[in-house]
Amino acid sequence: MNIFVVNEAQKGRQFSTEKRCALTPASAKKLIRLGYTVTLETNAGKAAGFSDSDFTEVDVNVTKDREIALQKADILLYVNCPMPEEVSQIKANAIVIGHCDPFFNQSLIEDMAKAKLNTLSIEMIPRSTRAQKMDALSSQASLAGYVMVMQAAKALPSILPMMMTPSGTIKPAKVFIIGAGVAGLQAIATAKRLGANVLAYDTRPVVAEQVQSLGGKFLHIDIGETGQTKDGYAKELTAEQKQIQQDAQRDAIADSDIVITTAQLFGRKPPVLISKETLSFMRPGSVVVDMAAQSGGNVEGSVAGKTKTIGGVTVIGTGNWSQAVARDATEMYANNLANLIDEFTDSETQSFNLDLDDEILAQSVITHDGAVINDMLVNAFKGAK
Ligand code: NAD
Repeated sequence: MNIFVVNEAQKGRQFSTEKRCALTPASAKKLIRLGYTVTLETNAGKAAGFSDSDFTEVDVNVTKDREIALQKADILLYVNCPMPEEVSQIKANAIVIGHCDPFFNQSLIEDMAKAKLNTLSIEMIPRSTRAQKMDALSSQASLAGYVMVMQAAKALPSILPMMMTPSGTIKPAKVFIIGAGVAGLQAIATAKRLGANVLAYDTRPVVAEQVQSLGGKFLHIDIGETGQTKDGYAKELTAEQKQIQQDAQRDAIADSDIVITTAQLFGRKPPVLISKETLSFMRPGSVVVDMAAQSGGNVEGSVAGKTKTIGGVTVIGTGNWSQAVARDATEMYANNLANLIDEFTDSETQSFNLDLDDEILAQSVITHDGAVINDMLVNAFKGAK
């Protein structure tokens, strides 16, 4: 079977600022060992620090001719997803793997279904123990947690650790992390390592212990019954619960030098957690990082891709966090994909076994045989019409 990796950073493409790549020389070696022929569009790894010759050395074919490679490919690996005009160039029944952001990309997903592509959406891979090695949401979110703390530290006009010197004692910075999922926990660990005092909150009380085990304090807010889905995602709060949370967090936010918000709701817009009014209680020079700025924002006034100053507070909405460490992000993502392909490769036929009865593929393959086949998406798409 032929695997093709597109250069998503090409000028004029939708994701031309993409620095990551879906392949590394090491992951290519693994795929070739499994029996695949691997082709890469020229310069696809460049922004992540991998030259074309790094790939040719491990027997990857490097091509400039994307159109021909698209037509020949049985499996296409993306960091993001195909461009709409690319969909018709891919042969029917090919398997397309990438971050498709399916809940917010209805027309592309429907086009991919019509083109009879098998779309495997990385976001839909279940958060199960078996799927951990292919869980790119987690690998990228871990890096995002680290990057957000580094960006906040750079913007803050003070240091994070305590410093005792003959010139005086500097108190450790106070960092408040809202949302202690994968990214939030990594942010807590990073801020702790830098010497800050860390406080965290999450609507899922089960994470309190994890926060404490990293040396952070957990802010307890009684908002009543909160749930989580079978995959461990937070459920949306009621309007009343949202208000209780916002009121209870206000003092902690006002007292913080850095606030990092990482709250997401699977398949829905993230909750607004910090209002402009609450921002106004923070000291000038304080920093807020809104991880969700690109998908709607946890912070009122944050702008995707930008750093804004709101009433003296620096609000960072950079987004694409893991791209700031594109080499590591690529290493992890490419490993996730190679592990996924390895898991479903039939060693006898050396081909990908698209077994839709398998619990991982049943959830993550969202288009097949001309239709959108994931129930959650089918319902979401119906609701949107
Ligand atoms: P996510 O990105 O969907 O959300 C980030 C965090 O925000 C979550 O912890 C969520 O509870 C929290 N949140 C949502 N609304 C909030 C609000 N109003 N206020 C404060 N916090 C709020 O989550 P994630 O990091 O992708 O993790 C989702 C779940 O999957 C977690 O339970 C995680 O432990 C689990 N997980 C399991 C595995 C595995 O077992 N293989 C792997 C990764 C993640």
